Amino acid sequence: MSKQGSHAPQPSGLTDHDYRQLLDRVPAIVYIADPGELGTWHFVGEQIYAVLGYTAQEWRAHPELWAQRLHPDDRERALQREVALEQAGGGADTEHYRLLHRDGSVVWLRDDAYLMRDTDGQLRWHGVMTVISEYKRLEAELQRRAAQQAAVAKLGEHALEGASPGELLEEAVTVAGQLLEAEMAAMAELIADEEVFHVRAYRSDDAAVSRERIPATAQTQPGFTVLSRAPVIVEDWLTETRFDPPPAMFGLRSGVCVLIEGAHGTFGVLSVQSRRPRAYLSEEVDFLQSLANVLADALERQAIDDGIRHRALHDRLTDLPNRVLFMDRLEQALARLRRRRSLAAVLFLDFDHFKVINDSLGHHVGDELLTAVAPRLRHALRASDTVAHLGGDEFAILLEDIDGEDDAVEMAQRLAALFTRPFVIAGGEHFVSASIGIALARGGESAMELVRDADTAMYRAKERGRARYEVFDEATRRRVLTRLRVENDLRRALEREEFSLHYQPIVAMSDRSIVGVEALIRWQHPDRGLVSPAEFVPVAEQNGLIEPIGRWVLERACRQAALWHAARPDSRPMEIAVNLSAVQLASAGLVDTVQGALSASGLTASLLCLEITETAMLRDPEATGEVLRRLADLGVRVALDDFGTGYSSLSYLPHLPLDTLKIDRSFVDGLGTEAHDTAIVEAIIAMSRALSVGVVAEGVETDCHAQELVRLGCERAQGFYFARPMPTAAIPAALARGNFRSRGRAGRSSR
Ligand code: C2E
Ligand code: CA
Ligand code: CA
Repeated sequence: MSKQGSHAPQPSGLTDHDYRQLLDRVPAIVYIADPGELGTWHFVGEQIYAVLGYTAQEWRAHPELWAQRLHPDDRERALQREVALEQAGGGADTEHYRLLHRDGSVVWLRDDAYLMRDTDGQLRWHGVMTVISEYKRLEAELQRRAAQQAAVAKLGEHALEGASPGELLEEAVTVAGQLLEAEMAAMAELIADEEVFHVRAYRSDDAAVSRERIPATAQTQPGFTVLSRAPVIVEDWLTETRFDPPPAMFGLRSGVCVLIEGAHGTFGVLSVQSRRPRAYLSEEVDFLQSLANVLADALERQAIDDGIRHRALHDRLTDLPNRVLFMDRLEQALARLRRRRSLAAVLFLDFDHFKVINDSLGHHVGDELLTAVAPRLRHALRASDTVAHLGGDEFAILLEDIDGEDDAVEMAQRLAALFTRPFVIAGGEHFVSASIGIALARGGESAMELVRDADTAMYRAKERGRARYEVFDEATRRRVLTRLRVENDLRRALEREEFSLHYQPIVAMSDRSIVGVEALIRWQHPDRGLVSPAEFVPVAEQNGLIEPIGRWVLERACRQAALWHAARPDSRPMEIAVNLSAVQLASAGLVDTVQGALSASGLTASLLCLEITETAMLRDPEATGEVLRRLADLGVRVALDDFGTGYSSLSYLPHLPLDTLKIDRSFVDGLGTEAHDTAIVEAIIAMSRALSVGVVAEGVETDCHAQELVRLGCERAQGFYFARPMPTAAIPAALARGNFRSRGRAGRSSR
């Protein structure tokens, strides 16, 4: 149509002018042009002026304009369009590209063109260029919003996947900066105590921007945001009046700041700043706020996690590291030690008589004491040392990088000195002391071993009088090893039948006839010979072996007693006394075990007397009372062994179903020679009368003891003076002897 005149007759008398008018009214630029970058424009509609600022005339006069005004990003693509169509001899093509307006602004065009032969046989473009700028803008807007939503979703996903808060903050400022086309983005954490914000994450195209601290006042944009509890937008910093611009502006002109707000408080702000003054769309502010909300949730979760972790690794009462954390730190310290070849020490600290405090003053006083001790301990240590509360009244201290044992000892002394000042608790002043064990780590030890060694040394300190320290050394190590060996061997002793029972007669003072025997366990160790129960019973109590061993003693003693009765059916009934350990007394199965032993042996219940110590009973008087009552229901008798050594209040005695008090050997020892002891024995005998229970004096070794007991009216006695513990086989002969009246036959000489 570029030619004047056309190849076909015009219908209804319309002229070219009419067609031109029509074309000029089409809301698009219609054209006919030769192919190629510099192809002649034969025709171009007048609209080109409105769209690109060039008249149709100018455009035709400068065929280079089209290629020149193509947006650089689109030029290549637009120029390539012809090649394929030319080869095919023509065809349609639609292209979106940008042309620059005469004033430099960008115009998006949709170019629908057809490469076709005109009547003169030349291939030419016949096309229509439609302005699609608005459509493109909307499209970009949608894309931007989709990108923003995707960014928020991704941030949330990363938070759920456990990304660290630091990583999340970095990601948030990066996407905020990118998607809001801001030159700067930052997250500033509010430190409420200091009334400042600390910039935690930062993204800027200007390396000179510093990570300053921002005052949390109404004079700053972040401070203003916190106070107004809403997004704060600055469209132009040059005209902003609500608050001051940041001291270093770096050419920034506008910005948005939103709150990062958790359920329990404000974490800080998220902000973007731009070098252009601009208004911010509400979608943009929403996007920034959404990022901030995800951050708030992630930070909150982190705070909760931190809280849980802290609680899991610290003692509730003292807030000191607990055993788990201590062992962890110790293991790390040992690993460092191996690399650095330095020294470390573990101190094990335990209050003296803490149980007494708890029992006499109440648990809350004990708790307060522990709480009060914790800060004292912490202050006495260097920051690099760890003090942990292992539980109860036990504390462990890890000293790192020490020069030698002296340093550890010095610290132990310093810690002991902390206890010379009283603790003010519940309105009263309380003094406590502590025993401390020290174990040195040289690198080869395991964490467990070190704590165990320090613990062992602490026990040694207690044995040696408390309120002191001991260093774990070779001698202690040997003692521990012996104990370990006993423990090991003890495990096999039962199945190897290395135990036996000896029986010590108990005589009536009136006629010195045997009224009973006490079963005493003996361990025939394959290498060590006879091992005293005083040595192995405490070990068995600690490792739990006392239960099977105790059961064996009960069953064996009952069976033996029943056999003796069967052998002498008409003689006077003879009681059998069996010792019970505190551990057995506290075990749930005791009553069943006793009943089992009785029914298996056929022994009359009233002939069995169980001996429990005063201290065992004191561990839990109420529970013990209950067990004793159930035993009494079986018909079994109970004796209180080693009576007088338990330092206990006597008020509970009348409430317990006891049959006998056994006066401890230590008092009988001084009988007749020490006024003190004599008085105590006398008092115990008087007490047994008042309580209507029997009384047995233990450890009678001399004629003098025996005479005194007669004088004081003691009913029964037991001791080397009458008879030593003897093997089973020796008992029938002893019984046959009838009584132990004669001094000559069973005196000290038989020892
Ligand atoms: P215990 O119950 O006080 O037993 C009395 C201890 O005093 C026995 O020591 C006995 O041999 C000793 N003894 C008896 N008469 C005299 C005396 O005149 N002078 C002196 N110096 N000692 C005398 P043994 O047999 O070495 O037992 C020590 C402790 O071991 C017992 O003290 C008891 O507490 C515990 N024991 C012994 N057998 C058993 C048992 O089968 N089970 C439990 N749980 N503990 C047992
Ligand atoms: Ca006993
Ligand atoms: Ca005893």
